Amino acid sequence: MRRLPVFLVLDVSDSMIGEPHRYLEAGVAELTKKLRQDPQALESVFLSIIAFAGQVKTLVPLIDLPTFYPPKLPIGSGTSFGAALEHLMLEIDKNVVKSTPTSKGDWKPVIYFLTDGKPTDKYQQTLTKWQQHYAKRCHFIAIGLGQYADLAVFSNIANDSFVYNGEQETDFARFIQWMTMSVKSQSVALDKNPSSSGCVSLEKAGGFLEQFDFNGTYSDNDCAVFVGRCQKSIQPYLIKYDRLPTFMEMGLDLSKVEEGQKLFQVSGCYPIEESYFDWSEKENVNPMINVKNLIGGVGCPYCGNPYALGVCMCENIFCVDDGVDAVCPWCDNSLQMQSNTNEAGFNITRSKG
Ligand SMILES: [Zn+2]
Ligand SMILES: [Zn+2]
Repeated sequence: MRRLPVFLVLDVSDSMIGEPHRYLEAGVAELTKKLRQDPQALESVFLSIIAFAGQVKTLVPLIDLPTFYPPKLPIGSGTSFGAALEHLMLEIDKNVVKSTPTSKGDWKPVIYFLTDGKPTDKYQQTLTKWQQHYAKRCHFIAIGLGQYADLAVFSNIANDSFVYNGEQETDFARFIQWMTMSVKSQSVALDKNPSSSGCVSLEKAGGFLEQFDFNGTYSDNDCAVFVGRCQKSIQPYLIKYDRLPTFMEMGLDLSKVEEGQKLFQVSGCYPIEESYFDWSEKENVNPMINVKNLIGGVGCPYCGNPYALGVCMCENIFCVDDGVDAVCPWCDNSLQMQSNTNEAGFNITRSKG
């Protein structure tokens, strides 16, 4: 039987922290479990998982379903579309068997590229390379997770582009069900009609999945993510703030808000692993944000200190209690903390998301 290579290219940038990341990890496990129950898929589908943030790595090399084990997904800062695509081409070259005049190779590889954001690296050359050498022999399905995913960059290379707009875990479970059917149908369709794209109709997915509108206006809304360390345990965490839709809806005092200023509301603080730094972009040119644009605070997820957003002279973020004395877990300096009373606020470093 000819193999059907399926590559899941997953965005694990830190804007995914919290539920989206958890859903995605559970979703991959569910997808493989469901595929294993299908005799046709079990025999033909070979699955590979590639994760990308600022860095890109293969989490699972192309492998048959009985051997596949769903990986734990990492998290990092940055959204390197270009690097992800470049890496994918290497994996295809290395693992997909081409047909020769005397033997049939693998079926066309199917790529599911899932992202919630916009690229933070250069990707134009890579897209051209893909268009010239890979587009014809792969089926590329771009899936945006949420309304801020910028799939427009794939307009010339994606065979299908969808946006997932579900809100609950049950929606995500149905979305994974749709993906399972999509993979299954390709394994069946190819057997009967080798040139078929085998894509599953959207009606079967539910209202939360739509065709990506390449002519629509892409909303450049985002979240602000900060990396901190616990003063006591030294362990890292992420603080996530979501951008507020409008000032009016929040009933804010508009006189204090400058024209065009973005405001962010705290949404959570999450423990992460040291591997976060390995998955992040290496150059240190992160954007800054003024603290007066941030609304609400949150405590440390490790030690219970009430403020996760303490800032040291070294510009790093750490958790603090109500006292004055602190030791920065990043630079080891002893500090006298003071609360921000400056009307103008001050800038702190955020991640690229
Ligand atoms: Zn702490
Ligand atoms: Zn410091």
